Amino acid sequence: MNPGSDFDVIIIGGGPAGSTAASVLAQKGRRVVVLEKEKFPRYHIGESLIPYTYFPLERIGMIEQMKASHFTVKLSVQFVGQRGRASQPFYFFNQLKHEAASTWQVRRSEFDQMLLDNARKKGAQQWRGDRNRGSGQNRLYARISRPDDDRRHRPRCAVRLTRGLEAP
Ligand SMILES: Cc1cc2nc3c(=O)[nH]c(=O)nc-3n(C[C@H](O)[C@H](O)[C@H](O)COP(=O)(O)OP(=O)(O)OC[C@H]3O[C@@H](n4cnc5c(N)ncnc54)[C@H](O)[C@@H]3O)c2cc1C
Repeated sequence: MNPGSDFDVIIIGGGPAGSTAASVLAQKGRRVVVLEKEKFPRYHIGESLIPYTYFPLERIGMIEQMKASHFTVKLSVQFVGQRGRASQPFYFFNQLKHEAASTWQVRRSEFDQMLLDNARKKGAQQWRGDRNRGSGQNRLYARISRPDDDRRHRPRCAVRLTRGLEAP
């Protein structure tokens, strides 16, 4: 049980979108917490990355880790029709003259864990749920206040989470 913390941003969901947003925000010094209902690593569909995934991965400092990973390198796609006829391979490097043309076929359980670990290294907190426990244990309370009285500051919310999900 966490006794209570103040955050600038609460991100609900620790998939690639949530953990990438958490890394970007934490890199910029924001106090971020990611709330994830599942216990990681967990199965997820959606393994085949596309070239332009490179750029957000680069932004959060993950390219070297991806290159060092065991994930299969993916250079092309091939389309198969309903009758089983396969198209010629479509090689990304024919269209994109950048190393992003080489991407990866990932195992999402591992990939999503890597992204979350990266966010944690950058300072984002993560609170995990456990769907196997009673739902009452996962209840979360947030108090949100906005410092409207000081117009010099950008409007933002101060969020205090008081109890609920467990910190890992
Ligand atoms: C059949 C299929 C095939 C696909 N194939 C590909 C592919 O080949 N390549 C590709 O790039 N994409 C593919 N996709 C798409 C890909 O799966 C998604 O784009 C990607 O997972 C989206 O990431 P996300 O972080 O937005 O959401 P998710 O990966 O779904 O992550 C959301 C997270 O939020 C958590 N969550 C949800 N609700 C709550 C809550 N209330 N509280 C706390 N946590 C919560 C979930 O547990 C989950 O971990 C495919 C999708 C489908 C359905």
